[in-house]
Amino acid sequence: MLTEELSQLKETLKEVFGYGSFRGTQEEIIQSILAGRNTFVIMPTGAGKSLCYQLPAIVMPGAAVVISPLIALMKNQVDQLNAVGINAQFLNSTLSKAEITKVKRDVLNGQVRLLYVAPESLTKEENVELLRKANISFVAVDEAHCISEWGHDFRPEYRKIRGILENLGKHLPIIALTATATPKVQVDIQKNLDMDDAELFKTSFNRQNLYYEVRPKVDAKKQLIKYIKNHKGKSGIIYCLSRKKVEEIAELLNVNDIKALPYHAGLDASVRMANQDAFLNEEVDVVVATIAFGMGIDKPDVRFVIHYDAPKSLEGYYQETGRSGRDGLEGNCVMFYSYNDILKLEKFNKDKPVTERDNAKHLLQEMVAYAESSVCRRRQLLHYFGEQLDHDCGFCDNCLKPREKFEAQDDIVLAVQAVSQTDQRFGVAHLVDVLRGVKNDYVMSYGHDRLKIFGAGAEKDVAYWTSLYRQITVYNFLEKDVDNLGIVRATAKGLHFVDNAYPVTLTKDHDYSNADEESDDDDSDLNNNPSAPRAADEALFELLKALRKKVAKERNLPPYVIFQDPSLEEMATTYPTTKEELAQINGVGAGKVAKFGKPFLELIAKYVAENDIETDSDVLIKSMANKSKTKIFIIQQIDRKINLDEIAESKDLTMTDLIEEIEHICYSGTRLNLDYYIDQMLDEDRQAEVWDYFLTAETDSMKVAVSELGDEYTEEELRLMRIKFLSEVAN
Ligand code: ADP
Ligand code: MG
Repeated sequence: MLTEELSQLKETLKEVFGYGSFRGTQEEIIQSILAGRNTFVIMPTGAGKSLCYQLPAIVMPGAAVVISPLIALMKNQVDQLNAVGINAQFLNSTLSKAEITKVKRDVLNGQVRLLYVAPESLTKEENVELLRKANISFVAVDEAHCISEWGHDFRPEYRKIRGILENLGKHLPIIALTATATPKVQVDIQKNLDMDDAELFKTSFNRQNLYYEVRPKVDAKKQLIKYIKNHKGKSGIIYCLSRKKVEEIAELLNVNDIKALPYHAGLDASVRMANQDAFLNEEVDVVVATIAFGMGIDKPDVRFVIHYDAPKSLEGYYQETGRSGRDGLEGNCVMFYSYNDILKLEKFNKDKPVTERDNAKHLLQEMVAYAESSVCRRRQLLHYFGEQLDHDCGFCDNCLKPREKFEAQDDIVLAVQAVSQTDQRFGVAHLVDVLRGVKNDYVMSYGHDRLKIFGAGAEKDVAYWTSLYRQITVYNFLEKDVDNLGIVRATAKGLHFVDNAYPVTLTKDHDYSNADEESDDDDSDLNNNPSAPRAADEALFELLKALRKKVAKERNLPPYVIFQDPSLEEMATTYPTTKEELAQINGVGAGKVAKFGKPFLELIAKYVAENDIETDSDVLIKSMANKSKTKIFIIQQIDRKINLDEIAESKDLTMTDLIEEIEHICYSGTRLNLDYYIDQMLDEDRQAEVWDYFLTAETDSMKVAVSELGDEYTEEELRLMRIKFLSEVAN
């Protein structure tokens, strides 16, 4: 490349992006594209992959087509580029007809430098036609691991990309980029995009500033709160597997004075966007999210990423933890692990089609192996991505905490012999059966019961051998077969070891059999049953009930006249010990405090003292009840058909806040009948019109609804109709 061109690239880098120099191999990658070569980029999250196609797109004539899996991600990048004066546009399902026409016109006019498309849009004939006619510089396939069904994020539409490009009648260089490619996925991507000839740029996945830790999921909520409080004022992401869990944990944090917002695909796009912005703008420190959050988020100073639930794969895990410490400073990655979570995930996998199921199971097993192993975490992670670290990292829980070791020389010999005697064609489960002398159909059908090695390791159990196999794979005595899922083969090092064995110490696995979620962590939903906050202290609750019975008897009254159950439960969660605190409890007015309060306060004070409630635990998990109070109040008022204005006023809420609360209540599963209010606002025909709109609209976004119907309806009317619509169609 000419020096002149080079300096021009650097100028553009500075002028458009504001960076003084390229990072890592960015410059070489860009040159490869400019030279018209197929290019394959594998770099960890945060390495700066986007720039590798954005910059050449800017300097080359024609539009670069960027295929990207997430609409949010697309929009994010387009916004950023537009902000620096680059004409970037996207084609996806959120655009109106008129907008699509305009994008196409601009592309054909040659004004557009980058055209982002979702893979679904790419398959549409009209868009294929556009690409045929337009001047295209090259094609970028971002998040290219989506092509592979062996990865964690498979999108079938990604497989159609190659075929479509071939039909455009012109040669287009491709750049594929991903942050997660095991050797198997890597092969798959190149095969599928037909780019075996591609120039490969792969940088190490080692992120030296990240600390990895796995904790047993015992008392996880308490641990979580304590952890965040110890990292006060720092940015963090908490990943949960379900939307419901996200909501629950976000609320738990909020009532414990940690500002946190939820993020998941079930939230309205505008809410999601607002919550993401609040995190980026540091209005909140913590986001609780499903894995929907994070792709394309490049907040540089995320200090911790916590997996509250076990992740589904190591690929996903590595990408998610990779969002911490992008600025090169401290990043803490903590996973809470329990076998119960794994069972849940397995159950979930059962509903998938067969091929997907096998793969999901395999990915999950790798994750389990990682979590349970006592081997250096970084070594395992890097090994998973095809890199060998030849020393322990000294910066993970397994390196920093003493581990129990054992001498394994003889058993390693047996394990490798089992592999070679069975012709290197089997997976670990089978090898363990052979070693342990199990005469099952599978073993017998291969005649493996006649092998010398059969039964040679019978005195050790399955867990022992499975763990040993995992470890010696990480230590490169064995390797995974890239073409056949689950099969291991002996490496040269392994074969050599059999005849020239030397002492090797391995480490015992962690025992997580006691790790489990706390009992209140079941799947029932708080909001479905607002009268039963689940954080209640059962023992205290029982004592309070007994006291109530006694007091009621003395006064010859039914117990519920004294205090109702929800009030007692709330007492058993918030531990009021003064009259003022007691008066805060739902259902307890000043009158009841005066009449019945004393013995209850005494009981609670005694209980708190005896159980060291405040001193013993660093963290006292406050109940959700306080927070739920407003919700309960709203539900009751709506039942009584109190005017919305009045409800808002008595809780000091704006109308928008109130409607948001109502949305929250309804979307977390509680049925509210809003007909009374809606009927007052809209006649039947108008209701039908809005209903039909939501029924046929492509999105339930309020912004879109307002732009379509805003002239005729107020936002309040549209919002209430949307709640009604969503609650009814969902049930
Ligand atoms: P990836 O797609 O690899 O996860 P991104 O493309 O989102 O990473 O980039 C991560 C961050 O690195 C962004 O904030 C980006 O602006 C920044 N970045 C990229 N290239 C450079 C560079 N040459 N100098 C400084 N910062 C850069
Ligand atoms: Mg990226």
